[in-house]
Amino acid sequence: MRDTVVIGAGFAGLMGALALADAGRRPLVLAKGQGATHWTSGTIDVWGAADGSLRDALAKLIAANPQHPYARAGVDGVAAAIDRFRALAEAARYPYVGSLDRNVLLPTALGALRPAAFFPATMAAGDMRLPGPVLLAGFRELRDFFPPLAAGNLAAQGLAARGVYLNLPPIKRKLDFNTRVFAQLFDDPAFREDVGRQLRAARGDATRIGLPAVLGIRDPLGAVAHLQELSGAQIFEIPTLPASVPGQRLFAIFRDAIVRAGGRMQIGAEVLRAEGAEGTLAAVYSAAAAREQAHRAEVFLLATGGIAGGGVRTDFTGAVWETALGLPLQAPASRGEWFAPRFLNESGHAIYGAGVATDARLRPLDAAGSVVYANVAVAGSALAGSDAIRERCYSGMALATGWQAAQVLGS
Ligand SMILES: Cc1cc2nc3c(=O)[nH]c(=O)nc-3n(C[C@H](O)[C@H](O)[C@H](O)COP(=O)(O)OP(=O)(O)OC[C@H]3O[C@@H](n4cnc5c(N)ncnc54)[C@H](O)[C@@H]3O)c2cc1C
Repeated sequence: MRDTVVIGAGFAGLMGALALADAGRRPLVLAKGQGATHWTSGTIDVWGAADGSLRDALAKLIAANPQHPYARAGVDGVAAAIDRFRALAEAARYPYVGSLDRNVLLPTALGALRPAAFFPATMAAGDMRLPGPVLLAGFRELRDFFPPLAAGNLAAQGLAARGVYLNLPPIKRKLDFNTRVFAQLFDDPAFREDVGRQLRAARGDATRIGLPAVLGIRDPLGAVAHLQELSGAQIFEIPTLPASVPGQRLFAIFRDAIVRAGGRMQIGAEVLRAEGAEGTLAAVYSAAAAREQAHRAEVFLLATGGIAGGGVRTDFTGAVWETALGLPLQAPASRGEWFAPRFLNESGHAIYGAGVATDARLRPLDAAGSVVYANVAVAGSALAGSDAIRERCYSGMALATGWQAAQVLGS
């Protein structure tokens, strides 16, 4: 029997597993596949709607909505989770900057402005409140990143921006270009030398140059410093469309830390069902080659995500169910109530709030408000009570509740 099983390898599961390992446990992480880590921009959005202090905005939210997942962690819990996350990233030489004092505005791959609380240092010079003309540069070979289009959209918002395509430096063999392949190319100093020379020639009056977030896997901070030296401008990464290189960097950092601390990760292990009695979960069963594999543990963390992550499933009849443990869900009663007429309306789409209701210790509740399993905590998008798309609290909420769940289970 293990001491701890974590189900899900998105930010909630990874943060939970790391914090449980910090508490001396040896978590086994079981996940059907990668989490949203491989899609996300790599920024940690805590509360995108906040105009000023995020701490104040969170305190107000928690007072007004004590059922919100952030209320389970509290403002101090959010701050502690972010501190742990930043210490992890810093130790891996992939530091995060930002604060809970205010959001910054970073450009998207299309040139929209997006609020973010914490972001890799490699994106820091992309804060669009900083002064000075900006050059956006990319490669025709990299799909879904169009510098002239993005710069045009920034210019339409009153920002001094230009976009150029660079020539692909000579490479040794034919490649199928995607974000990961480009990131590997940027690991090569000779590739960067060529790009840096082109950037210097194209720079004009720009003091900052934005490139797609593919500036290396091994040492992105070093790659940015090298390109800065070569181009004479500040360099920043702009999140691309999936697959996300910053997200993959983070996943690897978490995985390595969890394994170093004595944990284990099994990706490709879908949890199909659970076995428990008298309010205690005894085992979960994952899909294996010839038969189901049983995993017994003292405590379990459920971090299987929402509809996007596969933790919550729906069908055309209006059924909504939790996929791993078969827990009761808080969800709209019928399919007709899932959606509001507009995508980003006042109240949001009710179906996005579907998830597991919990008590203050993140233990799952049934419809009558009784704890289903006392040795289970739930974290991340699997939780009911938030609409992270509209609230723009995505990864922040996953980290905060993953961390908080570990405090509860580890104690
Ligand atoms: C395209 C995209 C872009 C995003 N961009 C941003 C952004 O810019 N900023 C931001 O802050 N956030 C962003 N997010 C959101 C954010 O990354 C996640 O929504 C958030 O981190 C939720 O994390 P999670 O750990 O709860 O769930 P997920 O990341 O969804 O992870 C769920 C995990 O559970 C596993 N799982 C599911 N069911 C089972 C099962 N039955 N058995 C075993 N394993 C199971 C999955 O395989 C996965 O490993 C984005 C998300 C997406 C999809």
